[in-house]
Amino acid sequence: MRRLSAITILFTFAIISINIDSGSLEEASSYSNHFRGSHQGYHYPQKYKKFESRSNEIVAEDAFHKLFNEIKTQQKLKTATSYNNRDIFINRNKTRDEESQLEFSYNENDRYGPPRWKDINAQCGGRNQSPIAIDTGFVAVRENAQELIIDGVDLVPQSMKVENNGHSLKLSFKYQNDQKINISGGPLKNPFILDNIHFHWGSNTSGSEHVINDQRYAAELHMVTYNSIFETFEMASQDPMGLAVLGILYEYDKLYTGKDNPWVKFITKVIKAHSTYTETNWVFPIRDIIKDVDFRGLLSYRGSLTTPNCSENVLWMLSTRPIVIKQNELVELRKLRNDKGRRIIHNYRPLQDTNGRTVTAYKYK
Ligand SMILES: [Zn+2]
Repeated sequence: MRRLSAITILFTFAIISINIDSGSLEEASSYSNHFRGSHQGYHYPQKYKKFESRSNEIVAEDAFHKLFNEIKTQQKLKTATSYNNRDIFINRNKTRDEESQLEFSYNENDRYGPPRWKDINAQCGGRNQSPIAIDTGFVAVRENAQELIIDGVDLVPQSMKVENNGHSLKLSFKYQNDQKINISGGPLKNPFILDNIHFHWGSNTSGSEHVINDQRYAAELHMVTYNSIFETFEMASQDPMGLAVLGILYEYDKLYTGKDNPWVKFITKVIKAHSTYTETNWVFPIRDIIKDVDFRGLLSYRGSLTTPNCSENVLWMLSTRPIVIKQNELVELRKLRNDKGRRIIHNYRPLQDTNGRTVTAYKYK
């Protein structure tokens, strides 16, 4: 009987909780989506925005706070039950992880290669998918735009978490006093908070996800951010306006003899899929990763996550001024292993149809 009630509590937790393991953005969102499907009753207010009347506003705010309290309660439950029921809890997490992965791969011929991602999640077959090819001769132009600013770019983190999530190298940062890095300006109506940075690369010197003016760059860095009107990344993931990704392109330069990109040192620590490593000594600010990247002529469009669940709630921003990557750095990235123990040789998704979407270039004042 005791065991049965423990299972009930855990199951309740599993369907409500959004305190998910910090997998990739893509994984995280697929969890969120899973919960959304499983538990319509706890649907977060779709948009926490202006409401029609004062009374509606109060009702919506009540719902908002009620949800927060429920989540907090569930998180406490997790702490209370996970110790006594550790085995059940671990098994449960494992099942969820396996479900969300469904062997998704980047090889066309695999059972769940890119053409079959829509069988993992139907959104992957949607009309607003990413990445896309952009011709800068055919974009809308926004003159006198606010400059895109990354606030905290020179902050030195307390610790950095490095992760091989089975399909990319992912970095996340913890700052003193719980400070956050946020970006604002450009197409963003309010600040967006950094969740993680990860990378996409190829088997040769063409590995970026987005293609600009017929050029596929060597690699692409993604700064994944969420709308600061939400308390957490997971909540934002469920909202149509919740996420924004800033993409920075890497240009291969065989003559470049400068220093290695600082994240290269971490690769040997996380060769195995789902391994993580936390660094507290050799830490560096975001500036060391993105250099003095220039956001003039920033391109923006509405699209999706580029891995399953392919959720179409991403405001994309792409720098048109690439930064440099070296051959040895690309070689190092390809040493990382996926779930099957194979090297991650390439991890960019094939180009998606724009279906008439507009791309806008932001020109600064
Ligand atoms: Zn990405």
